[in-house]
Amino acid sequence: MRCIECGEGQMIRKRMQVRHEIRGLKFEVEDTVHVCGRCGFMTIPWDRADEHGRLVDREYRRQAGILTAEEIVAARKRMGMSQREFAEYLGVGEASVKRWEKGVLLDKSSSDLIRLKTDLDAARKNYEELCCRLDWKEIEKLTIIIRKATPILQRKFTWPSNYTFGSLESEIFWIQ
Ligand SMILES: [Zn+2]
Repeated sequence: MRCIECGEGQMIRKRMQVRHEIRGLKFEVEDTVHVCGRCGFMTIPWDRADEHGRLVDREYRRQAGILTAEEIVAARKRMGMSQREFAEYLGVGEASVKRWEKGVLLDKSSSDLIRLKTDLDAARKNYEELCCRLDWKEIEKLTIIIRKATPILQRKFTWPSNYTFGSLESEIFWIQ
């Protein structure tokens, strides 16, 4: 097959690193391509087009930290929710959840939102980061309020017999 770019070289089937750029993120995927031995012009063979698209999608998501369709389905099932319930839980349209689960690329902020609301580790990391970023005086104020409020709260409500206020306090101290 003659090269359509330079018109002189021959296109050879070869495994190569193919460069891509999506939303400003540059990365490479290895695939079998047609490349001109003379000018280096490269095309993706027709029989590789679908698979190449999948490779690119997977690598982009991996590098950008964006959930794949399978991971979104798994996250929803872990929560025991239907697509409709999941959409409500996330505050998005049901159509969005359906699209994402079919493999339509979701943006980073939606991906982060899903992680934050379905992944305990992600939620904990966010909580810790928030505590680090908050002014310690604010946290101290909160501790004082809870300390003062504790006897009042104890009198005002009937708490479960296994509930101890100590645990609440130690949790607040842990933030500091
Ligand atoms: Zn060429």
